[in-house]
Amino acid sequence: MSIIDTRTPDPKRLISGATGDWEVVIGMEVHAQVTSQSKLFSGASTSFGAEPNNNVSLIDAAMPGMLPVINAECVRQAVRTGLGLNAQINLRSVFDRKNYFYPDLPQGYQISQFKAPIVGEGKITVSIGPDSRGQFEDVEIGIERLHLEQDAGKSIHDQHPTMSFVDLNRAGVALMEIVSKPDLRSSDEARAYLTKLRTIVRYLGTCDGNMDEGSMRADVNVSVRRPGETFGTRCEIKNVNSIRFVGQAIEYEARRQIAILEDGGTIDQETRLFDAAKGETRSMRSKEEAHDYRYFPDPDLLPLEFDQAFVDALAADLPELPDDKKNRLIKDMGLSAYDASILVTEKAIADYFEAVAKGRDGKMAANWVINDLLGALNKASLAIEQAPVAPEQLGGIIDLISEGSISGKIAKDVFEIVWNEGGVPADIVESRGMKQVTDIGAIEKAVDGIIAANPDKVEQARAKPTLAGWFVGQVIRATGGKANPQAVNELVKAKLGLEE
Ligand code: ADP
Ligand code: MG
Repeated sequence: MSIIDTRTPDPKRLISGATGDWEVVIGMEVHAQVTSQSKLFSGASTSFGAEPNNNVSLIDAAMPGMLPVINAECVRQAVRTGLGLNAQINLRSVFDRKNYFYPDLPQGYQISQFKAPIVGEGKITVSIGPDSRGQFEDVEIGIERLHLEQDAGKSIHDQHPTMSFVDLNRAGVALMEIVSKPDLRSSDEARAYLTKLRTIVRYLGTCDGNMDEGSMRADVNVSVRRPGETFGTRCEIKNVNSIRFVGQAIEYEARRQIAILEDGGTIDQETRLFDAAKGETRSMRSKEEAHDYRYFPDPDLLPLEFDQAFVDALAADLPELPDDKKNRLIKDMGLSAYDASILVTEKAIADYFEAVAKGRDGKMAANWVINDLLGALNKASLAIEQAPVAPEQLGGIIDLISEGSISGKIAKDVFEIVWNEGGVPADIVESRGMKQVTDIGAIEKAVDGIIAANPDKVEQARAKPTLAGWFVGQVIRATGGKANPQAVNELVKAKLGLEE
C-alpha cells in the first residue's frame, strides 16, 4: 500500500507528553456485514439470533466436494457501498484463499480478496465537532479499498466445563472490509469517521450498522510520532465493537506508546485487544507470531467480472446520501450547517424532519425537531422510530403557532400533552381552552388591571420605556400565557403613552 501523508500536523490535535508534543496516526479496517438474506457463497440464511448451527449449509460446513457460488446481491451491495464512498469500482476482482487453522473455520481458509479487491480508492468527508463555538470542521479521509470476504463461525468456551462449542451460523456470511488510509489524527476523528461510515451504509441499506449485534466492528491501527516526522510503528487493536470503545482504545494506546518512546524504548508491531472493563489495550500476539496466510486465488471461483453498465445502473439508483442531503437542507430550506448536520446523522431523523418541514418554515421545523423532539427522545432513551409524537402532530403544533392560535410557550405544553396522551394538536388546544387570546377587549382589561395596581411602575416606565416589558410579562402571566404577546405589547405601550 502506498502510504502518503495527506495531513499537516494540527496543534489542536497534538498530545503533549513529558518531553513535548506527539501526533497520533490512525487507520481503520472496518468489517461491515452485508445486508443480504443469504450468505456470500451459499443459500443459508443470515438471520440474527437463530438457534446455533441452524443457518448452515453444506458449503458453510465445508463438506467435501461443495462448490461456492457467488451471491449476486452481495456483489451489488459491495458496489453500491463503493459508490457511496466515492470510490473506484473494479470491473474485475479476484477471490483468494486466506489460509489459517481455526476450529470455527471448517474450510481451513477464508475466502477473501487480497491483491484485486472489488473496490479501490475512495474518500469520505468527516465533520469534527461541534467545538465550543458550535463550529464543525470538515476533514477528508481516504479509503484504501473495500473487499468482500467470508465471516468465520464462533467458538463458545463458557457453556461447558471441559468442552468448547462451535456455532457456524456466521460462517460464510458476507463481510465488506473497508480499509482507510492512515489519515486520522485523533480519537475524535476516528469516532467521527466510524460514525460517518455507519451513516453512509445505513443510508445505502448495505449494512445495518448494528455494532452491538456484531454487524460492524473495527480493527484500529495506532501509531505516534513527533509532528513532521515519518510514520511510526503501529499496533493494531482488533475487533473493537463500539464507537465509544474506539475512542477509549486510541486514547489509551497513544499514551502507552508515547510513554514507551519517551522512556527511550521502541514500539513492537503487534496485535492488541481492548479490554472494555479496564479501559486498556493488551498484547495478543507480536509480529513474529503473525500468520503467514499463503494467499492464492481460489481455484473454485472465477474472477468476478461485470461491466460498466451494471455499475452505472446501480449508481443511478443510489438514494440521496447524507452529504447531499445536508447541502440540500442548507440551500433549499435555509438551515444552518449545524442544524443540517444533526438532522442528517440518521436517515430516519432526516425523513421525520422533512415530513414536518413540508409546506412549513424550515428553520422553525428544524428547531422543534432538534431541540424538542430529539431532546425528549434522548431523555426517554427512545429512537426516532419510537417517537410518541408523529410528524403530522408536530407539524400541527407548528401550524398553530404560525397562525397565531398559540404562543411558542403554550406550544411546549401542547407538545407535552401530545407526547404523553396523543391526540390532534388543534383539538387539544380547542378543548382545553389553550388558544391564544387575541380578543383585544379581554387583553385591554388585563392591561388596565396591571396598570391600576402598579402606579409606581407606571411612573418608572414613562421615564424609562424599556420597563414596558415588565407590564407585558405581567399581562401574559395574568392570562395564563395565552395573551397574544404582540397585541399585549401594543396595548401596553399605548396605555402607558409610550410611542412606538
Ligand atoms: P495489514 O493488512 O497488515 O493490516 P495495511 O498496510 O493494509 O496492513 O494497513 C492496515 C491499516 O493500517 C490501514 O487502515 C492503514 O491505514 C493503517 N496503517 C498503516 N500504517 C499505519 C501507521 N504507521 N500508523 C497507523 N495506521 C497505519
Ligand atoms: Mg490488518
